[in-house]
Amino acid sequence: VTAPWPLPPALRAPLRPASESWLRDLPWAPVEPALERLQAAPPSRVLAVPAGKLMLFRGEVSSGVSIPILGYLLDTPGVPMVVDCGLRDRWRPAPGAAPSGALGAGSAAASGGPSPARGGTPTGVPEGGSGLPEGAPGLPEDGPAPGMRYRPVLDGPSLAARARELGFAPGRLVCTHLHLDHAGGARELGLPVEASDTEWAEARAGGSGYPAEDLAGLTPKPLTLDPTRPFGPFAASAWLAGGALALDTAGHTPGSISVLVRLASGFALICGDAVYPLLDQPGSPAYLGMLRFRRLLAERADVTLLPAHDTSVQRACGGGAWLGA
Ligand SMILES: [Zn+2]
Repeated sequence: VTAPWPLPPALRAPLRPASESWLRDLPWAPVEPALERLQAAPPSRVLAVPAGKLMLFRGEVSSGVSIPILGYLLDTPGVPMVVDCGLRDRWRPAPGAAPSGALGAGSAAASGGPSPARGGTPTGVPEGGSGLPEGAPGLPEDGPAPGMRYRPVLDGPSLAARARELGFAPGRLVCTHLHLDHAGGARELGLPVEASDTEWAEARAGGSGYPAEDLAGLTPKPLTLDPTRPFGPFAASAWLAGGALALDTAGHTPGSISVLVRLASGFALICGDAVYPLLDQPGSPAYLGMLRFRRLLAERADVTLLPAHDTSVQRACGGGAWLGA
């Protein structure tokens, strides 16, 4: 497996025999027809844009490590898109706020958070604490290790503000899933939120990771993926545009999707949190979803993964460097 930067820990970790055999038996649908259609369109370029961060806490204490939240600007033929849009403004620390606000008692998500994999090495960067507005809600997702939790913080420009600075006017917003660190910024973009129909149903049910405050006022635009069009290890797909294909990458959440585009060289797959399973839960939907990515990468060395919480990708796009340009 090749990539221009290190793969997320779960994709590098050795597999248990049971996982190896599950992977061996995993059905594989031809990918060539879809890839040829992508090749026929002009190439896209992609820019990872930081849109907040997840600060890691142990109990009430900041670990001094945070993990970026990345949204993606996708300059694709036909229509400029955003794929995932980071945090909304309610996560902005109040000026002069104390370095540690009260952590609420949010329940842990069964599907696991956007973690750099339990047992793996967090790839975050050290930094100081940051306060939150009075009454800010608790942490909705699990951290990467037992007892660790994330606190979302928007301490820089929102994705919408960054897009404006760059003169990028998106016509569509697609979310890999609707967790608050992927869809919260949608309100400011003012675009309908395209996510899978399964994901919208999940979000409406109000589970952990989908706080009403972050999704309130958004216009749902559910996408239906076509099970008669499987792609490699993924059970369904749907064309978003001639240059962008949505894939059913359920696992992290039941409705998670990823977006595949053609770059000037090879392909990029914007995959949200689909490659961050908890390593001590083999057999969980998130873990099996991750295994599908391992299979894809084993078969297709020309696919580059673009996950949502990756410091290497953030660095590669530092200073506004578009990928695939
Ligand atoms: Zn998530």
